Amino acid sequence: MVLSKTASESDVSVHSTFASRYVRTALPRFRMPENSIPKEAAYQIINDELMLDGNPRLNLASFVTTWMEPECDKLIMAAINKNYVDMDEYPVTTELQNRCVNMIAHLFNAPLGESEVAVGVGTVGSSEAIMLAGLAFKRKWQNKRKAEGKPYDKPNIVTGANVQVCWEKFARYFEVELKEVKLRDGYYVMDPEKAVDLVDENTICVAAILGSTLNGEFEDVKLLNDLLEKKNKQTGWDTPIHVDAASGGFIAPFLYPDLEWDFRLPLVKSINVSGHKYGLVYAGIGWVIWRSKEDLPEELIFHINYLGADQPTFTLNFSKGSSQVIAQYYQLIRLGFEGYRNIMENCQENAMVLKRGLESTGKFNIISKDNGVPLVAFSLKDRSRHDEFEVSDFLRRFGWIVPAYTLPPDAQHITVLRVVIREDFSRTLAERLVLDIEKVLHELDALPSKVLMPPVIDGVKENGTVIKKGALEVQRSVTEAWKKFVMAKKTNGVC
Ligand SMILES: *Cc1c(COP(=O)(O)O)cnc(C)c1O
Repeated sequence: MVLSKTASESDVSVHSTFASRYVRTALPRFRMPENSIPKEAAYQIINDELMLDGNPRLNLASFVTTWMEPECDKLIMAAINKNYVDMDEYPVTTELQNRCVNMIAHLFNAPLGESEVAVGVGTVGSSEAIMLAGLAFKRKWQNKRKAEGKPYDKPNIVTGANVQVCWEKFARYFEVELKEVKLRDGYYVMDPEKAVDLVDENTICVAAILGSTLNGEFEDVKLLNDLLEKKNKQTGWDTPIHVDAASGGFIAPFLYPDLEWDFRLPLVKSINVSGHKYGLVYAGIGWVIWRSKEDLPEELIFHINYLGADQPTFTLNFSKGSSQVIAQYYQLIRLGFEGYRNIMENCQENAMVLKRGLESTGKFNIISKDNGVPLVAFSLKDRSRHDEFEVSDFLRRFGWIVPAYTLPPDAQHITVLRVVIREDFSRTLAERLVLDIEKVLHELDALPSKVLMPPVIDGVKENGTVIKKGALEVQRSVTEAWKKFVMAKKTNGVC
């Protein structure tokens, strides 16, 4: 009897999880704990804390996939212990990534012969893909300048001010100047004419965006190609184009097959796309495809000999999971062109449902375009009492995560709310969101204005009367000033 008593006191697996001491004591946050805890307790503690994260399906801030079919979830879990870089050990995984590269290259109309293999690589996401593409351009440009005996220490890239933050990262990490075309009222993407004006002999490439992160709009890559061809002829340079198709690369081929934005345009030398956005795979996969072997300088490629065959690799990191590559292959063969087109059409229709619903409130200007990445970006017509940040805050209470942000220069006076329409955002949810936005607008109308009146300097009006600010007003102006300060420091967090 004594024995069984001892067992029940010491054996934690006997206790109800919430009666065990592990959920009653605080866990160390900065140092690794001295002792082990039971696996059930570890699971429960972490799972409980994670409940406070947002619900990914209601996270309308992100393009990144939040739902896949259970069959694919199974494949992902089965491959979770495979290191992608062990190509000798996992030759099939390597083969699947090569098939994906080829399928995507053909989707982007790479000029490939019948049995010619495409040049490209799977990455962690578009950011890594963009670093690689940028490096290839930089090295090619440097080699050419060296051969001509010209200085090669001041490379630059021309982009729109609407570029995603990863371009700024590339510029800073790899010491390339970013020359940004400013936006303007009513035009929120890179103006091809202005971009070509900024091109000089040190420009390693012009980066166009297919699907601006801010409002989903496609930049006019064809016009850019034509203008740049003309300039190249006049100057004797051969400035190329990279297309950042992170979000639009899996939209345009299905919804706008006649739109020329890809390798059909001769100056487009490389394209990146996020497999984890409209490629429909969970976070952790992107692709970069080059037009041809000549566009990827040989000295950047590492050759791994696997199974007697040459496997060229060109990535920034070494080890990573295999699951995402396998999941991408699953989606490509499971859905096929037909399946992707159906899903993208559905997303587009749901975007239109949401757009019409927002328009019918009469309270919003729509900043996104009907042709583009399926998203709705909108701003308040009347900001005199409340702003978009408050709408965003209030929506959070219904569970919706809808980001609000200001546009880059010279359109920084415009704030937008953005809803990304993904595969798993159904029509019912779109309609529900409109209802909840209407509720939020009603609630806000009933509240005192939070948007500040222009500050009264020193509390003295022009006519000399002294105005004393109420404590609340003072607090608000301090908060507002800090908000502005923080916003100015922050680069856009939307992805
Ligand atoms: C999302 C996005 C990126 C960054 O891509 P990741 O896959 O998140 O690394 C780059 N450019 C554009 C236009 C994007 O939308």
